[in-house]
Amino acid sequence: MKVLVATEKPFSKVAVDQIREIVEKGGHELATLEKYTDVQQLYAAVADADALIVRSDKVTKEVIAAAPKLKIVVRAGAGYDNLDLAACTERGIVAMNTPGQNSNAVAELAIGMMIYISRNQFTPGTGSELKGKTLGIQAYGNVGRLVAAHAKSFGMKIMAFDPFVPAERIQSEGVEVAASLEDLYAKSDFVSLHIPATNETKNSIGYALLSKMPKGGCLVNTARKEVINEPELVKVLEERQDLKYITDIAATNQAELNEKFGKRVFATPKKMGAETAEANINAGVAAANQICDFFATGNRKFQVNK
Ligand code: NAD
Repeated sequence: MKVLVATEKPFSKVAVDQIREIVEKGGHELATLEKYTDVQQLYAAVADADALIVRSDKVTKEVIAAAPKLKIVVRAGAGYDNLDLAACTERGIVAMNTPGQNSNAVAELAIGMMIYISRNQFTPGTGSELKGKTLGIQAYGNVGRLVAAHAKSFGMKIMAFDPFVPAERIQSEGVEVAASLEDLYAKSDFVSLHIPATNETKNSIGYALLSKMPKGGCLVNTARKEVINEPELVKVLEERQDLKYITDIAATNQAELNEKFGKRVFATPKKMGAETAEANINAGVAAANQICDFFATGNRKFQVNK
């Protein structure tokens, strides 16, 4: 089988070398398309691919149509909103992600962002500490859970809201379960977002929730920009001079946010949550292993288009 790694933002060389080793050991052939600048290059590259590994690259219905032999596509990462799942399902293509492989990288960044914004973006002046503050984790998945664990060592009080994780499991890790999403926002000095971007969550974080935050509250977004209602974010930051917003995914209106709110907002220049050497290797290797296992045994454990 031909396995194509198509990455507009490439994996590290070490990661590609390890992917190649796994793929070839599995009896398959590896092809790479890196740093492509035109989607036509992707259409051409997938023409004879049986399996596809991508990072944030969009796998649209046009990409699927250009790949008549494709049987499996794996998003090396957690969020898979870049895959057109309906188009995959229609063609009988298995779509997977690699959950948990980059979680620590993202969790460490979330903690770093909280410190950065609390210390006035490392500019002179009196900042504040994380110790004693309440952190609200919105979605207690792989990343949320690690942020909670790391934040505990800073002496933060942790609450979480995730309707899909049993309350007992959250509590057993020393984390309080918020009575509702509103309750989480009302009690948290920091809210850290770890929800996936779905039809349900897109645009869901806006004025109603953010205006409930205590004085000096800060929203930390290492999830997706699509979950934020951006016009409402502007409105609440205008009304509440004490609130802050720090994100790993620049808002569509980030220039406006920067101009209007100065040091109360910050966006990383490019999404970098999973950009560590370790996460890079973990996610790529997991994708290669999942593909080989799928071809060898039919294992669909991480399928997301069931
Ligand atoms: P995960 O699948 O392990 O966890 C997601 C959690 O969200 C699950 O526990 C699920 O129950 C919960 N959830 C789903 N819908 C919800 C809702 N409406 N309300 C509350 N909880 C809800 O995913 P993860 O690895 O923790 O990653 C979380 C998100 O972070 C990803 O979907 C992705 O968008 C984003 N992410 C960003 C980067 C980055 O580079 N900044 C890297 C990895 C992941």
